[in-house]
Amino acid sequence: MSEGVDVTLRTPSHTPALLGGHPAFSDGLRFVRPATPPVEDVVARLRPSYDDGVLTNGPLVRQFEEQAAMRLGTAHAVAVSSCTSGLMLVLQALELKGRVLVPSFTFSASAHAIVWNGLSPVFAECDPTSFQLDLDDTNRRLGDVSAIMATHVFGAPCPAEQLEVLAAKHHIPVIFDAAHGFGSTRNGRPVGGFGSAEIFSLSPTKVLVAGEGGIVTTNDDALAQAIRLGRDYGNPGDYNTRFAGLNARMSEIHAAIALMSLEDLDDHLATRRALARRYDTVADQLPGVNPQAVAPTDRSTYKDYTVRIDEETFGLDRDQVVAGLRAEGIETRCYFSPPVHRQQTYSHLGGDHLPVTDHTAARVVSLPIYRSLSLDSIERVGDRLLALHHHADEVRAALQ
Ligand SMILES: *Cc1c(COP(=O)(O)O)cnc(C)c1O
Repeated sequence: MSEGVDVTLRTPSHTPALLGGHPAFSDGLRFVRPATPPVEDVVARLRPSYDDGVLTNGPLVRQFEEQAAMRLGTAHAVAVSSCTSGLMLVLQALELKGRVLVPSFTFSASAHAIVWNGLSPVFAECDPTSFQLDLDDTNRRLGDVSAIMATHVFGAPCPAEQLEVLAAKHHIPVIFDAAHGFGSTRNGRPVGGFGSAEIFSLSPTKVLVAGEGGIVTTNDDALAQAIRLGRDYGNPGDYNTRFAGLNARMSEIHAAIALMSLEDLDDHLATRRALARRYDTVADQLPGVNPQAVAPTDRSTYKDYTVRIDEETFGLDRDQVVAGLRAEGIETRCYFSPPVHRQQTYSHLGGDHLPVTDHTAARVVSLPIYRSLSLDSIERVGDRLLALHHHADEVRAALQ
């Protein structure tokens, strides 16, 4: 893929589709498309287990765990059925009481895992430019909290070392919802080895995919053992269960897909990073379109390419931009809006004053990014954003 190529957005001669112009993508531009390994390769990989009648938790799962641990440089990688079940099992294994601090600007599953353990979430603010858990606000809310769970938002690492220091000061564990982070690095260190454990997702919208699945990585032998037990009902093999575990095993079929997806990960990440650089170049030319800030010493997987729309400079607010892009055939998602503390499940808790999170969630939009997306498509998305900006007054009037 060509990199660092300067692109200049064409002067917006075309009329936005919302105002009657021809849509940029008449067949539609999808938001996400999983990078599925060739099916013959998956079948070939699966065949020995399948023919042997081993359908779950077999040699392919072991291989996947070994390769994931090697890649991430952790002592253990435990495959589970999803990131959500991994989060639930890790919180259970930590034997926590009371309250767990979590950002509100994350996916609902982070908070759900807390609630499933009979614990209560304490929501904390995000940073308005990196969208990551805010350190000062976390510090302020740590009072009687028994653990911190932070998310590596959109594949960019959160301030993991600083959170480790903060947690150590309060003698509490910190874990990371690394659903987006397989392949991210923080100051040169792979995400996976931070905190007590990190939990990855392999569901179809993520970068590394298995169909459904998750991985728990940790350097703590006892914790790894507890997760291995917990994914199998808490049964060590004698049917005398030690605690109320789950069925959170990974099947051999999922492991076969995950192994093929992992083999291909470096190429996949290189492509995503080239696409993200092209989006960066495009965003530079668009007033009021601000990409997520990623520290120059960090590397994101770009699970999502997310921008903040500033209405004052762009001329339209986020929802108007989404409507304008939809008319062009461009599918977007507003991750994470509404933020978790505003969702029906949690709003009854009340009392959460999270103005930065509310402000951020109302302004973000994630743009299409996936391996098979062309650089040209990104330029066309940029062209249409520029056209919307130039026709902002008319677009606003049309949407009234
Ligand atoms: C997708 C996602 C999850 C849930 O992952 P599953 O594998 O679907 O359970 C959890 N946290 C975040 C931040 C996610 O994006």
